[in-house]
Formats: sequence, structure tokens, C-alpha cells
Amino acid sequence: PPPTDCPPDKDELGRSTWTLLHSIAATYPTAPTSNEQSEIKAFMGLFAKLYPCWFCADDFQRYMKKETVRAASRDEFGNWLCNAHNEVNKKLGKPIFDCAKWEERWRTGWKDGRCD
Ligand code: FAD
Repeated sequence: PPPTDCPPDKDELGRSTWTLLHSIAATYPTAPTSNEQSEIKAFMGLFAKLYPCWFCADDFQRYMKKETVRAASRDEFGNWLCNAHNEVNKKLGKPIFDCAKWEERWRTGWKDGRCD
């Protein structure tokens, strides 16, 4: 659906949010300092509390208790986030995304050059 000037429904909010989160992973340092690692963990913890779809937030917080944020490198955080997104995909009956490709989707563009 085209963007509107109406309040977002949960799908539009979800798409925009995943774009932000995966883009944060795409620019996360390859070798983060311990402070940068603490910050991303604190951000994700608060994000999961404040996400403005309460039942989505409840489930996501439960997931994060089971699968705590891993962020020792860009690769590790990108994969952690990809798996978290796949958990939501599974719940919604959406296709599972191949996490080997998260960087092509969100950082480098696809190897076939279509994003160049
Ligand atoms: P989205 O899932 O929004 O994905 C956008 C794009 O990301 C895709 O087109 C694909 O290119 C890429 N992508 C897909 N999977 C991955 C992956 N694993 N890793 C990297 N890239 C990927 N909706 C509900 O109805 N119920 C919920 O409980 C719910 N919980 C949510 C929890 C969170 C934290 C967030 C951010 C969103 C949640 N949503 C929920 C919204 C839902 O995830 C989708 O955003 C929404 O259904 C729109 O789906 P979409 O098909 O446009 O693709």
C-alpha cells in the first residue's frame, strides 16, 4: 500500500521498524567497544518495552529473555536480529528469511547488482 498521512497500522509500523533495526545492524561496528555493546543491548531492551503494539512487544520481550541479545560484532548482531525477525515471521506464517543474506538485503545490496 502507498504511504499515507494516516497513523500507521501494525504492518506499516512493523515494516518501518524492521528497516530501522536492520539498518542499525548494518552500521553497527565490526569490532564494537564494550560500551557500544552495552548501548545496543540497552537500546534493544528499551525498544522491546516501548514498541507501540503491546502484544507484539509482549512476545518480543519474552523472546529476548530466552534469546538474549548477541552483539560482539556486526555479524553477530545482524544474525541475532535476523533470527529474532524470523521468529515473528514464523508466528505470522510468513516465509523464513535466509540469514546468510541479511547483509546483502540491508547493507551491501544484492550480488546481482540490482541495487547499484
Ligand atoms: P516485514 O516482516 O516487515 O519485513 C520487511 C522486509 O524485511 C521483508 O520484505 C524482507 O525483505 C526483510 N526480511 C524479512 N525477514 C527478515 C529477516 N528475518 N531478517 C532480515 N530481513 C528480513 N505483526 C503482527 O501481526 N503480530 C506481531 O506479534 C508482530 N510482532 C512484531 C514485533 C516486532 C519487534 C516488529 C518490529 C514487528 C512485529 N510485527 C508483528 C510486524 C511484522 O513483523 C511485519 O512487519 C508486518 O507483518 C509487515 O510484514 P511484511 O511482509 O511487510 O515484512
